[in-house]
Amino acid sequence: MDKRKILIVDDAEINREALAAILEEDYDCYLAADGEEAIAMLEEQKVCYSIVLLDLVMPKVDGYGVLEYMNRANLISEIPVIIVTADNTESAALRAYMLGASDLFLKPYVPSVILKKIDSVLYFSDQKRNDPLTGGFNRGTFLKQAETFLNSVQNRKDYAMFYFDINNLKAVNQMFGSEEGDRLLKLFYNDLVTSETRPDVVARLEADHFVCLAEKSRIDLERISGRMVRSMEISGKKVHVYARFGLYYIDDDTITVSKMIDHAKLAKENIVDASVKPYCVYEAGMSDKYIGQAEALAEFENGMENDEFRVYYQPIIEAQTGHLASAEALVRWEHPEKGLLSPGTFIPALEKNGYITKLDIYMLENVRKRLDEREQEGAPLLPVSVNLSWMDFYDESMRECIFKTFRGNESNKRKIRLEVTETSYAAMEQDNRNLFDHLRELGAKILLDDFGSGYSSFGMIESYDFDILKLDMSFVRKIENNPKSRTIIRKMIELCHELGVKVVAEGAETEEQVQFLKESGCDYIQGYYYSKPLSAVDFAQFANAYAKAGKIAASAVS
Ligand code: C2E
Ligand code: CA
Ligand code: CA
Repeated sequence: MDKRKILIVDDAEINREALAAILEEDYDCYLAADGEEAIAMLEEQKVCYSIVLLDLVMPKVDGYGVLEYMNRANLISEIPVIIVTADNTESAALRAYMLGASDLFLKPYVPSVILKKIDSVLYFSDQKRNDPLTGGFNRGTFLKQAETFLNSVQNRKDYAMFYFDINNLKAVNQMFGSEEGDRLLKLFYNDLVTSETRPDVVARLEADHFVCLAEKSRIDLERISGRMVRSMEISGKKVHVYARFGLYYIDDDTITVSKMIDHAKLAKENIVDASVKPYCVYEAGMSDKYIGQAEALAEFENGMENDEFRVYYQPIIEAQTGHLASAEALVRWEHPEKGLLSPGTFIPALEKNGYITKLDIYMLENVRKRLDEREQEGAPLLPVSVNLSWMDFYDESMRECIFKTFRGNESNKRKIRLEVTETSYAAMEQDNRNLFDHLRELGAKILLDDFGSGYSSFGMIESYDFDILKLDMSFVRKIENNPKSRTIIRKMIELCHELGVKVVAEGAETEEQVQFLKESGCDYIQGYYYSKPLSAVDFAQFANAYAKAGKIAASAVS
């Protein structure tokens, strides 16, 4: 930790030197020979002074003049001032206190008393400036400290602003109590302060949002991304904690710190899929296309009541034959003002608060009804997989709903499948993982979603049983230009087959990708190459056309 900085203002050199001699062991001392010089030093804003020791009687501008300036410049609430004077009249003291001085002591002074006094004044000023939970700066102090810091550097454009957000603090609070939540916040803060990035100014802004200013040359995005997932022992249970961040590389000398924070935050809100890449860098023209958390929550219940959520179906094609095999149910929000919204714009907000479970129950029920309807129409039977969030398993009604769907219902077992992401798997406790084994024993099919997107490990495949693995889009993207990825995909498919697991490749868009996947023995392909997600009506048409052409996969029916 750097030493804190003290500004000593006294016209008598011997007094300045004497004070500096007492203080320099614990503080960095800056000296001003009169009020004018002191004001110039404060005005520069290059040094963040923690405290000012101020003489009253001085030539040019006296101590009162300095206090008046500090009031005008709004500094008096930021930097505490201790008056050091030989004037022991009541009127001198009163006037100084009226102008905002924190304390006053008379010359000649006793060194140990001065040190104590500075200590206690600083303690109270810290209480005002700091975030009580982490002990670091609060928002207001961060804004000022960051500004001062940037004034002191040679080139602002060598720095960047980070905005961090913890994804599942709410869940930790709800499940384990707010004390554990607080512990998590402190840990996150300490991690930031001590990270390899060595940020220059750090703060918790509010709730689970943190900011820091750091030198660009020290930023290693891979490394910071790796820190965005950590496993924590909470109340004796191992829980995964995920975070994400937005980053703004300062590219404009005139921009305020508060605007820098806005940019970094906006970048954070533009993260497409945090399990693939837990950060996003600000770009000019990045618009606020994500619904704010508060907004999504406020509107969610309304949306549910007004039946604004739609189930879209994305076809999944049997790779070797090109026949239609199944579909994935994906939610869309038909928002009365904002139009058709993609899940990426509101699911993160819902996940944070457990509302996602309501949505997932809705999806499951809706898909079940639709499949029954289709069956009655005599349409070909095509299984549909629904997405589950890890939060769902902490919800009794969701667990009940899932079991009710499968227990003793042969038709549902064939028709409805469950997709669980590998990140969800990792976040779940053992009890809930066992739940999957029960579901599988009941005959439900489980898909491991997004494999290869984030922190995949072979341990995952080794330890858990599932029926189908979904290779993440990020793999498929690399088919064209990364020979290593091609080898990994080929070997993954082989490995899965040896373990009796089928493979769906997600997000295939080009002929070349599809061709490669077929040659690699991939079982199923889902991607824009075949079709985007379709409304229920459009999907029925799509399926009917395939049925008419005799192109319904045998595996769909089996
Ligand atoms: P996911 O489960 O990985 O779903 C696949 C996503 O990839 C879908 O995005 C789909 O539209 C998109 N996609 C499919 N093929 C292609 C392609 O060829 N190119 C590109 N660029 N994209 C393709 P979508 O519908 O925006 O869903 C995003 C995510 O939202 C889903 O990722 C899933 O994690 C989540 N989600 C969607 N519906 C639900 C739901 O009902 N419940 C829960 N818990 N999560 C859902
Ligand atoms: Ca999925
Ligand atoms: Ca997926």
